[in-house]
Amino acid sequence: MKIDIFRNPNPAEKPGDESKLGFGRVFTDHMFLMDWDKGRGWHDARIVPFENLSIHPASTALHYGSEIFEGLKAYREVTGQVCLFRPDENFARMNRSAARMALPQLDEEFAVRALKELVKLDEDWVPHGEGTSLYIRPFMIGDDEHLGVHGVSHVRFIIILSPSGSYYAQGIDPVDIMIEDEDVRAVRGGTGEAKCGGNYGASVRAGDRAEEKGYAQVLWLDGVERKYIEEVGSMNIMFKIDGKICTPALNGSILPGITRKSILALLRSEGTEVEERRISLDELMTAAQNGKLEEAWGCGTAAVVSPVGHLAYQDQVFEISGGKIGPTTQYLYDTLTGIQWGRLPDKFGWVVPVE
Ligand SMILES: *Cc1c(COP(=O)(O)O)cnc(C)c1O
Repeated sequence: MKIDIFRNPNPAEKPGDESKLGFGRVFTDHMFLMDWDKGRGWHDARIVPFENLSIHPASTALHYGSEIFEGLKAYREVTGQVCLFRPDENFARMNRSAARMALPQLDEEFAVRALKELVKLDEDWVPHGEGTSLYIRPFMIGDDEHLGVHGVSHVRFIIILSPSGSYYAQGIDPVDIMIEDEDVRAVRGGTGEAKCGGNYGASVRAGDRAEEKGYAQVLWLDGVERKYIEEVGSMNIMFKIDGKICTPALNGSILPGITRKSILALLRSEGTEVEERRISLDELMTAAQNGKLEEAWGCGTAAVVSPVGHLAYQDQVFEISGGKIGPTTQYLYDTLTGIQWGRLPDKFGWVVPVE
């Protein structure tokens, strides 16, 4: 499919002070769009000036949560080359999310090509500072213009770009996390393993309550027994218990993170054993009480690796690794960001230049 390019006649001024970028508040000059109609498939692939969408008030996405998204980053490597990290994985996951939400499949190779075209056009928006990046948000919405509940026959796929500041501008500060025992994020058979907006809509309340108590995010338990560890708000979770690294197995309600997958591949390639299994709250609490919970970290595209300093459950609070980043967490952060920014060799072929 051909991509039509309509250049923005009024390009915006690039943000002067990269330290003030924050996350997801500034957008570039262009966006990618294409439409899908039942019986016709995807059509009208185009890059257009960034602007508000015009949407019918009865649009499916607005009423029935017919929405999925992805999140990845473009980095300016030490050589100046702009690169993506495993973009094929994002579009493969988007297709799995689409299947769950009865949205149409993308041509994954075409989606990567469209993304590269867009990033190339807005390449000057990729920030330069240490740790900064261009955050990429592909998303798909069902957009039928009537209120009946049914499979969609009109869909839009869009990619927007947002230059973002360093997640760790003040250095890697461990986060404090609260185990949520009331609300649940997902259940097997539901949409937990799909990256869809609805999962987030349902989790905001618990996040707000945690924040009121001084915690950065919640750690979710399984939705059936509330006995097993699942994941953090927007990150997967890993632990080092008594010298062994473990993470909850993908069970149908956990989002299969690409950072998670990359860490597992990295550790296993080095001969380090990693267990993917059920981890019960009991096991975690006992390990924490006995001083065997050596490290805990979240992993996801935004922060890459985020050490957990304190873990709270009801009225118990445990300090992990002295409230500081532990050696395994630091090693994983340095290695993954080293590969992403071109400071370390990319022996897995994960880094994709935008050219
Ligand atoms: C996106 C996401 C993650 C992390 O996935 P990455 O591909 O590593 O960025 C983890 N949990 C949830 C709920 C997510 O939405």
